Amino acid sequence: MNARTPVILVHGGAGVGMMTAAQASCLREALAQGYAELRRGAPAIRGVETAIRVLEGSGLFNAGVGSVLQLDGGRRMDASLMDGRDLRAGAVAAVEGIRYPITAARHVMDETDHVLLAGKPATRFARYCRIERQAPPTAAARKAALADARTLAFASKSWSLLQKMPRAGRLQAACETVGAVALDQAGNSAAGASTGGAGLMLPGRVGDTPQIGSGVYADNEAGAVSMTGRGEGIIRVAVAKEIVDRMEAGATPNRALQCVLRKLADRIHGTAGALVLAPNGRFAIGHTTPRMAAGHWTGNGRPIVADRFR
Ligand code: ASP
Repeated sequence: MNARTPVILVHGGAGVGMMTAAQASCLREALAQGYAELRRGAPAIRGVETAIRVLEGSGLFNAGVGSVLQLDGGRRMDASLMDGRDLRAGAVAAVEGIRYPITAARHVMDETDHVLLAGKPATRFARYCRIERQAPPTAAARKAALADARTLAFASKSWSLLQKMPRAGRLQAACETVGAVALDQAGNSAAGASTGGAGLMLPGRVGDTPQIGSGVYADNEAGAVSMTGRGEGIIRVAVAKEIVDRMEAGATPNRALQCVLRKLADRIHGTAGALVLAPNGRFAIGHTTPRMAAGHWTGNGRPIVADRFR
């Protein structure tokens, strides 16, 4: 079989904030490192994991080292990835104290009979896999997070619920989840995502990111998708799988993406952003939030990164 030109797309979250110069350069670095793997002949899943590790380790996004805190001051992270060759998938939810949740998700896929591990046992599994540790949030970080979020918090259902629960803590607004999709030289696709979660989260809240079919999906025969945006809406529409299903039925990446984002908005007033990649290498990046930090590269020129795609 002739080698195909690899393709890789990454995102650094959909929301309202403008991308910083540091974030733009980190997204370019993630594209470059992920693409280098694909050019060496590595499978798409490896390119996706490599790119996401760059973003998780940077501290510039709401994933891995930069993850936001939940209302009790805990830093609980979610990640997943899926291999389009054989529909294998791995995920972790509410994992703590590690730098690279995406690698924990890969170990779940490769070394267990399961798809998703959650909470303290997932953290223990990550430790067993010797994933690099990260220190718990400092008292100063917890204080700063609460101060930033307090204004927003009073209007939120989570805040008033938390007041009635023991041990009220802190909260933080967030977007800047990270993700990637890729197509390798053999035509295999993969998708992944990693996050510290959304703003104003009750302790224990898990979003779409570790849920296969909601936050990510990949199937060599139909395409690959990585989502970002408020997980509560993305889960209810099972957005990633619906976009892939529409491509399987013949829609282009852009058409599938636009239809499902419109459905999310019309049915439940949800907003989101997505990376969408078809088996033939065509792709789309789109969002219904004001901005989405993302980029793509097919190996020519420099990686393209922007914070608006229409
Ligand atoms: N989807 C993530 C979540 O709900 C947040 C985000 O993408 O900004 O946990």
